[in-house]
Amino acid sequence: MAELKLVNLTKEYDKGAVAVKDFNLHILDKEFIVFVGPSGCGKTTTLRMIAGLEDITDGVLEIDGKKMNEVAPKNRDIAMVFQNYALYPHKTVYENMAFSLQMRKVPKKEIQEKVNEAAKILGLEEYLKRKPKALSGGQRQRVALGRAIVRDAKIFLMDEPLSNLDAKLRVQMRAEIQKLHRRLGTTTIYVTHDQTEAMTMATRLVVMKDGVIQQVGTPKDVYDYPNNVFVGGFIGSPAMNFFKGKLNETEFVLGDIRIQIPENKLTLLQEKRYIGKEIILGIRPENIYSKFEDIANHKGSTVTAQIEVAELMGAETYLYTNLNGTDFIARIDVDSSVKPLDTIQLAFDMEKAHFFDANSENRIF
Ligand code: ATP
Repeated sequence: MAELKLVNLTKEYDKGAVAVKDFNLHILDKEFIVFVGPSGCGKTTTLRMIAGLEDITDGVLEIDGKKMNEVAPKNRDIAMVFQNYALYPHKTVYENMAFSLQMRKVPKKEIQEKVNEAAKILGLEEYLKRKPKALSGGQRQRVALGRAIVRDAKIFLMDEPLSNLDAKLRVQMRAEIQKLHRRLGTTTIYVTHDQTEAMTMATRLVVMKDGVIQQVGTPKDVYDYPNNVFVGGFIGSPAMNFFKGKLNETEFVLGDIRIQIPENKLTLLQEKRYIGKEIILGIRPENIYSKFEDIANHKGSTVTAQIEVAELMGAETYLYTNLNGTDFIARIDVDSSVKPLDTIQLAFDMEKAHFFDANSENRIF
């Protein structure tokens, strides 16, 4: 059982630089929480405050109802996995995994059982006698996970644990960490700047920017209802397209281009007094269509665009184009007939569009 409460957690480094500001989050037992955001947004600093490796400037950290601000790292019952694995090079895999238990004077037999069990879970049984340098990156990362598992800690903290692995191995380890979490149920906080990792692994995401939480929610909620332009653009690949334009009585106006807005959305925009104002329209690449029947069904929201680049991705094609100088991407079913410099019709599915305030960049509804 491990529940964490972070209340107005704030970190200010020496020169008055605020790395994390008023971070509020209640993490439930068995959750897999992912902190995600661009470099420097404060993910690692928050994790290090939870681990006790960084002093908390302000706010309260509670684990299972107990205030932990002043508790030493070793007494927090937390196991941490780092990006660089931090394995002891001169120790074998077995010794690396056993080390923290030996330090705690755990009986030898118990250590053996724990290490063997972790090795079994992680598929490391045949490597126990090897030194880290004789392992692949993925195997080393598994040893680092093994070290966390043997400790039976009640919380796992993972800081970009997969970022040193190649793309294929990353996908594999992503699945392994998820399986491990399902099996052990240990409350986990995982830091990454990779939105795909965040989307696929998290029970809940915490999207951060400049030390401030932008949104907390399930991957689906955050994807479907991003709080602001930043979250919309950060979560999803290829990223959401944005167009800054004006609203008239019924349409979104971008220079000489007019895009019809569905009745239900228009009513909401009217209620919130956005008619006649500037807004930002967000539309995901997969909500832009090129098929004949889709064009026919979206007559009021079809645009003509010249293709700059067509990327064949296997099962789908990414079309890079622009509208009145604003670049955008359409993600369509695989279509090798579309070539650069072709001028084609593209339908915007406005039922799936997102509307943001042009000044605050916050979601309107
Ligand atoms: P990355 O993905 O690059 O690791 P991050 O989101 O984990 O980034 P942090 O490492 O938490 O970001 O850093 C947050 C901010 O705090 C940054 O602006 C960083 O420069 C600053 N910072 C981090 N450590 C220190 C330190 N020891 N002293 C002063 N400033 C620091």
